[in-house]
Amino acid sequence: MIVRILIGLLLLTIPMMLLGQANAGDDKGICKGDMTDIGTAGDGTSCYHWEANPADPSLAGQEDMAMPMVSPMMTTTYTLTVVGENFTSKSTDDVEIKVIESVEFKEDASQDYGYDDYTNAMEHWKSVENGQSDPVTAEIMPVDAADQVYFKSTATGKVTVSPNQATATPQTVTCTGVSKGESDIQANCGEEMGMTIKTLKAASYPKKSKSVAIRLVNETNYMSTDISTAALRTYLNNTIYNQAVFEWNVTRLPTKTVNFDLNADGMLDDNSWMTAEMQVVRDSCDAAGYDHIIFLVDKPSYGGTGFMDLNQKYGFVYGDITATPNQTTAHELGHGGFGLMHTPVADGINVMHPSVGAAKIRLRKNQWDAIQN
Ligand SMILES: [Zn+2]
Repeated sequence: MIVRILIGLLLLTIPMMLLGQANAGDDKGICKGDMTDIGTAGDGTSCYHWEANPADPSLAGQEDMAMPMVSPMMTTTYTLTVVGENFTSKSTDDVEIKVIESVEFKEDASQDYGYDDYTNAMEHWKSVENGQSDPVTAEIMPVDAADQVYFKSTATGKVTVSPNQATATPQTVTCTGVSKGESDIQANCGEEMGMTIKTLKAASYPKKSKSVAIRLVNETNYMSTDISTAALRTYLNNTIYNQAVFEWNVTRLPTKTVNFDLNADGMLDDNSWMTAEMQVVRDSCDAAGYDHIIFLVDKPSYGGTGFMDLNQKYGFVYGDITATPNQTTAHELGHGGFGLMHTPVADGINVMHPSVGAAKIRLRKNQWDAIQN
């Protein structure tokens, strides 16, 4: 008898407790401007009341609904108070909606490969080698919403991304090349399949390489200016062509002294590709077994810093004219090695800018592709 009474009380009490229990729902992240519902379905008998901190105009008129739709402009805590039928119970619960305002991808200073924020200012490009990983930086606003940003690669057979979820800002995001191709790296709000707030485009390439030999060429009547082979190798492979997942095998050939100044004007005539004097250098200083050969020669008649026509084996770099011989060599190899044209002047820091300079070290997505083809 007593047992039966107890069971009866339990059967009566449990539903009444559940009816009056506030459940504001799970915390979540949304993109700024998106809507989301909060709370859970009403039981038809309890009374509901919501308050927002800070105040949220999108809640207006819905304060007494069980599941309002809100669109907060900033991270907001909503407190739900539930009063059971006939005031049998009263409870509160709250839910935090984190509002992600922006995610910006940026170049990571420690990256090994390339980053292109010029070709598409809204969706930057990242290069990576098949089988290798490289970081980018994601800056998330506001700070308190960083953990509500999820990263997703749309083509994981080409490039994968980690971590799945941000933990801080700035957040290091690692792109790993899988096979040749491209993928969108999405920064999504609230969940992996959430709204995309920013996209980084990633391209994976196999490592490719070619050989280039460097030869200092003196005229019988004057000396030319030499450069460091090791410094050039490092520059080509760690500063410039690594951006396109490409490596130059740099070799030094013995210095040669040649009587190329046919008209005895004290200069190398270089006003066209290629003059008789340039041909003397080429024919006297050739070597077998290299994809390209760069001749270091002084005193060009035309006054440029280097000369290599499109898709040529031989190139000239004028060490007495250029203040940045490594950069000039990288530029001329762009012409001769891959047929790269000069870029528009507006891309002022491109390797293939019409004028050379220490700051001109960038290769862009279309150039990565050209170098890889
Ligand atoms: Zn040029």
